[in-house]
Amino acid sequence: MRQVLNRQKLDSLLITHLPNIRYLCGFTGRSGALLVADSGAVFFTDGRYSEQADAEVQASKIRIVRKSALAAATQALKTARLRRIGVEAARLTVAERAAVAATVGTRRLIDAPPIVEELREVKDIDEIGRIRAACRLGIELFDRLKGVLRPGISEAEVAGELEFTARKRGVEQMAFPTIIAAGQRSALPHARASTAAISPRAFVVCDFGVILAGYCSDMTRTVHVGLPQPKARRVYNGVREAQQAALEAVKPGVIAGEVDRAARNLLKKIGLDKFFTHSTGHGVGLEIHEEPRVAAGQKKELKAGMVITIEPGAYLPGEWGVRIEDTVVVTDTGCEVLTASSKDLITV
Ligand code: ZN
Ligand code: ZN
Repeated sequence: MRQVLNRQKLDSLLITHLPNIRYLCGFTGRSGALLVADSGAVFFTDGRYSEQADAEVQASKIRIVRKSALAAATQALKTARLRRIGVEAARLTVAERAAVAATVGTRRLIDAPPIVEELREVKDIDEIGRIRAACRLGIELFDRLKGVLRPGISEAEVAGELEFTARKRGVEQMAFPTIIAAGQRSALPHARASTAAISPRAFVVCDFGVILAGYCSDMTRTVHVGLPQPKARRVYNGVREAQQAALEAVKPGVIAGEVDRAARNLLKKIGLDKFFTHSTGHGVGLEIHEEPRVAAGQKKELKAGMVITIEPGAYLPGEWGVRIEDTVVVTDTGCEVLTASSKDLITV
């Protein structure tokens, strides 16, 4: 990271975004600030976390402080002989940035680009191992979910069963609020599980992820309760083909926008593109949504070791919707699907 700082002509960076702090020094608590300069790294946190910091923090000096970690780090910067102090501009509130500026002086303060986020894009072997384990658990949870889904049960109860099993298997927490969306609600791409009962004939979009050893999984399968109509089958197969087309487009050197286009073009051929209202995917790691974004116009080049989702969908307003999502790791020649669970239309 110090190499990047040199390139950016910064002589220090004040890191306040907790996943970035975790990535760089290992601290998993909820309050802290990390100051990285050429002379080394200093981690600031308060007394609640002193034991945890001792156990977790690596490659940094630890300072336990009485005020807020950010205020203490800013105070340390006041007298430090540093001329260009970067802050994570996208992560500070207006008030926080103003407080830092008031202490260190606006002339020294630089709004830094997302430096750590960029370092996090390509995962190492250990990180991929953790994401793989999280995805494997996701597959197992989906297998159980199929046994729970039935007409009359509420979306919330299905989500609850899934999350209870996840907890018993040691997940820290779900990566995001579980989506179990049946019937008309499946046409809402981000519907949360509600108390609505699942009807005897309906699509159910099941989108869920876990956090295991710090790293997220993300997968969606759309299941049909009862016998699907021909139109439902047609749309399902279209989304499945679009997902396959996008998966096949993933390889190092390809720009993220092209992967998005592969899914969109396939849906266009069958007249479903106007029902695909979100982007094709996103990076997954310490956070459920991170770089790179797999969306129209995204110029970022894919590299081996990046972990992204491929999740096209089609949402017919007032009717129902279908989404199929995998988490994949970019390999030297293409990609490996980490959520390798059947994508045949499952009816329960
Ligand atoms: Zn998802
Ligand atoms: Zn996703």
